[in-house]
Amino acid sequence: MEARSADVSDEKHGDESTRAQPLALECRAPSGQARMRIWMRLCGRGIVQYDHFDPPFESATEHRPQGIALLCGSHHDHRSRGLLSIETVATARLSPITFKKGEARDALDLYPPFVLHVGNSEIQNVSSIVCTAAGDRWLSIEEREDSDAPIRLSADFFDEAGEPTLALEGNEWVCLGNQWDVETEGRRIIVRSGPRRIALQLEARPPHGLALERLSMRKGELSIDVQPSGTTVIRNHGGVTEFDSNVVANAECVFLL
Ligand SMILES: [Zn+2]
Repeated sequence: MEARSADVSDEKHGDESTRAQPLALECRAPSGQARMRIWMRLCGRGIVQYDHFDPPFESATEHRPQGIALLCGSHHDHRSRGLLSIETVATARLSPITFKKGEARDALDLYPPFVLHVGNSEIQNVSSIVCTAAGDRWLSIEEREDSDAPIRLSADFFDEAGEPTLALEGNEWVCLGNQWDVETEGRRIIVRSGPRRIALQLEARPPHGLALERLSMRKGELSIDVQPSGTTVIRNHGGVTEFDSNVVANAECVFLL
């Protein structure tokens, strides 16, 4: 999240190594609620930035988490113009709409020719990444609504405990509210299931790419790990398939299990 790194490196706010973590934790949500960095805002959009609403950033002499909220670009702009009141932001901070909805979502800007990067492998013109003998499919690239429409994707991601983390629905990603932390950082979405445990890391590479950079997922007998090295390991009913620096194109599915 660019706004955060700009904030914490500002001289007025002290040394980054001592300031960054407490600020990040305290800003994410009112105490007692999940540490969702994308969670505290008015409208439920997934890409957000820190808004220093009380006092304004220019006059801040210290970090005051109670006076910082996460807002989307549009609401942040409304705040800067004075079209959105401090009172409304302060109220929304205590009762974020995304807690009520249980999700946050935002759009992907993807058009053909589409490349899905899975770890260090590239997949192009494939209908689904995993197909099972029982007819289940995982991570599918669907028919577009018309020739001008964006790429449509469909996938449910889970963490290593089988809890849902994020879904791809059409040209949107939808983050669910049960995870330890979700952060957007530049073009990346990072879902953590616990401290230093990355359940999912996606990078949008518009207009043609989406990268599944990290995944640690279990769902029933199926597990999929996209490791930091770039290797993908899929286990299903005792069988193991490894996928390393491969290119797959023009296929119905990549892994037939
Ligand atoms: Zn908004």
